[in-house]
Amino acid sequence: MQMPAAFADKPLIATEAVPACPVCGSEASQQFASGYDYELLTCRNEWFFVQCDQCSHVRLDPRPAVDTLKVIYPPTYYSYNYEEKISPVAVMGKQMMDAAKMKGILKNLDKLPESFVDIGCGNGRFLRAMERHGLNRENLYGLELDERITASLSAEGFKAYDRRVEDCTEIADNSIDLATIFHVIEHVDDPGSVVRKVAGWLKPGGVFAIETPNFESLDARKFKTTFWGGYHIPRHWHVFSPATLRKLVEDNGLTVVDTQYHTGHSFWMYSYQHLFNFGKSPKPRLAKWFDPFNSLPVLIGFTAFDKLRSDLRYKTSAMLMLAQKN
Ligand SMILES: [Zn+2]
Repeated sequence: MQMPAAFADKPLIATEAVPACPVCGSEASQQFASGYDYELLTCRNEWFFVQCDQCSHVRLDPRPAVDTLKVIYPPTYYSYNYEEKISPVAVMGKQMMDAAKMKGILKNLDKLPESFVDIGCGNGRFLRAMERHGLNRENLYGLELDERITASLSAEGFKAYDRRVEDCTEIADNSIDLATIFHVIEHVDDPGSVVRKVAGWLKPGGVFAIETPNFESLDARKFKTTFWGGYHIPRHWHVFSPATLRKLVEDNGLTVVDTQYHTGHSFWMYSYQHLFNFGKSPKPRLAKWFDPFNSLPVLIGFTAFDKLRSDLRYKTSAMLMLAQKN
């Protein structure tokens, strides 16, 4: 599609090809979607998602070269400081949804875990949540690629490391009861190697909970060609469906025990925001109403809508798959 004018003065960044599907290895694929960095406008590249002919996994190809990561993840990237950017009401709502999410995970374990790792632990909110469930800080591990965050968590007594899963040697095999990775696996270069590594860390019977966008959701279908917020172009390198995520975890040593669906309110809002900013007849003033950080009434509306849909057993765009080590 034609480049929107807002991207004209942005840099063109280096890319690398991803010839083979990381889920099944096939090199046959079809174009699935294309678009620009509508959210952060970091570069003027047009990006393409392709779908594997064999297993239907969707990947970004080509994707940003490794030495451009500091361009596509600017220092203001919201994952690092979202609580400072959203309203106190939204923070409270998020805390309630986090607690419900953890409860839904823990009900699948035979007993309360004694050891826990959160991959992409941010400010450590899930480590603290598990501490409230009675775990000791020396058994609470967090991985986050920001040294300032891991230094401050380590100073508090948590086991926090600024490493990628693949490079982390501090966690022993067969030592972890519960591992979580919320909205991170879609960002990594090789999701299979992440699952294999975590499967090694788990004790037999241990559970790995993976939350990631689902391209078989209502919002994903409605905005499929370019504007779906779940693409997070060009930072999401993989987009899964329940079937492709199941194949990934089961091919790498785990067994799926449950799949849950949470609210994809941010994806709904970004989808409309991108449509109103960059669609055929732009409506920038309307787009402002769909900013997830700055439009509480719309946020509450989409959260309620998706909560109802998930209660009615519809598949939303935020799927949470639980897989167990035998
Ligand atoms: Zn494939």
